[in-house]
Amino acid sequence: MIDTLIIGGGAAGLYAASLIPGAVILERGCECGRKLLLTGGGRCNYTHLGSVPDLLVHYHGSRSFIRKVLYRHVPEDIIGHLRTMGIEPADEDGRIFPANGDAASIRTALLGRCGKIIEGKAVSIGRLDGFLRIHTDSGAIDARHAILAAGGNAFPQTGSDGSGYAIARSAGHTITQLRPALAPLILSPPLAAAEGVNAYVTLRKGRLSVSGEAVITRRGISGPAAEDFSYCLSGREDITVSFGKMDIHALRGTNGRMLLKNAAPVPPRLAAALFGEMGEKRIANLSGEEERRAEKLISAFPASAAASSAGAMSTAGGVSTDEIDPETMESRMMPGLFLAGDIVDVDADCGGYSLTWAFATAYTASRSIR
Ligand SMILES: Cc1cc2nc3c(=O)[nH]c(=O)nc-3n(C[C@H](O)[C@H](O)[C@H](O)COP(=O)(O)OP(=O)(O)OC[C@H]3O[C@@H](n4cnc5c(N)ncnc54)[C@H](O)[C@@H]3O)c2cc1C
Repeated sequence: MIDTLIIGGGAAGLYAASLIPGAVILERGCECGRKLLLTGGGRCNYTHLGSVPDLLVHYHGSRSFIRKVLYRHVPEDIIGHLRTMGIEPADEDGRIFPANGDAASIRTALLGRCGKIIEGKAVSIGRLDGFLRIHTDSGAIDARHAILAAGGNAFPQTGSDGSGYAIARSAGHTITQLRPALAPLILSPPLAAAEGVNAYVTLRKGRLSVSGEAVITRRGISGPAAEDFSYCLSGREDITVSFGKMDIHALRGTNGRMLLKNAAPVPPRLAAALFGEMGEKRIANLSGEEERRAEKLISAFPASAAASSAGAMSTAGGVSTDEIDPETMESRMMPGLFLAGDIVDVDADCGGYSLTWAFATAYTASRSIR
């Protein structure tokens, strides 16, 4: 009989293990923390400084649930805990990275605090007389407590293939609708001719909007603005992309002889993709209707957009927060079972908020078990 079994040795599982002496990690892959190594482009943006109300606007899910968990373990606590393992923070406009710029150092530090790790894939979980039985692909493990930290279904090559949802279902949990999040967008029509162009954009759907840096791709748009906006989409939806404003009458006065694609306030390759044949005309030769259309294409390029599951860094949806006690992260469906990290129906913007969530939930669960 194990006291605490942690299902999944990713960010949340490793953090929980670093706080519960003697906890055993069950990891399906050949190594723990593979996604952690990729975070922040290999530098690991592990938290974001700010008060809980400031942080809250970057999360999607039940506000009261998220607030309670974040207050238990604030970014300074995460920095403090990692500091005890030799990780010094570097602050970049509130985004916190390890000072050595190496995500691997976080994984190594957490692994150094972990107990036993066993290899195997959990399949389901049941409650017997006063303990939990975790069924794996190679037999059953009995434990007094278990933390389900198997992640979502983004970047399955790192081990989080969505099998955690089946385990949660076997414990009686509801999984809310799953969608790719922190994902690049597929646009129709795409702006393929402008592939690789960087732009500052505002993406809008109804009254929802996100502004920030973006990169045009062959199939659509990626970068922080697209990733943060991907939460706003369920399936394919009509949106507009603003690349700024263009005052065509002012341009006619100053640059009337220039081709539209060269005079527009965006890189020429992007202008050519936006305007098509019209971009080859001199500004002075545009008709009134073309002038209006050109202004509109810059300030509100209409497209239908869908979040791409290939390249999604996170999953929106997950185990319903109605079925988890935010004070402890214990399942309301199966006593003794706790949940942490991406598997829960809470997701976040770019900027260290996802790992803050993984660590805060892991802390809350481990504190309750301890
Ligand atoms: C490319 C990329 C960059 C990112 N950068 C950042 C960043 O800079 N800052 C930030 O805050 N967030 C970032 N994120 C998001 C962040 O990595 C995740 O939010 C975080 O890893 C979630 O932690 P987790 O422990 O819940 O899941 P994971 O880290 O995915 O870990 C889940 C673990 O469970 C294991 N597992 C799954 N199923 C089973 C099973 N059935 N049995 C046993 N083990 C199982 C998996 O093998 C895996 O090791 C990034 C994500 C990606 C993909």
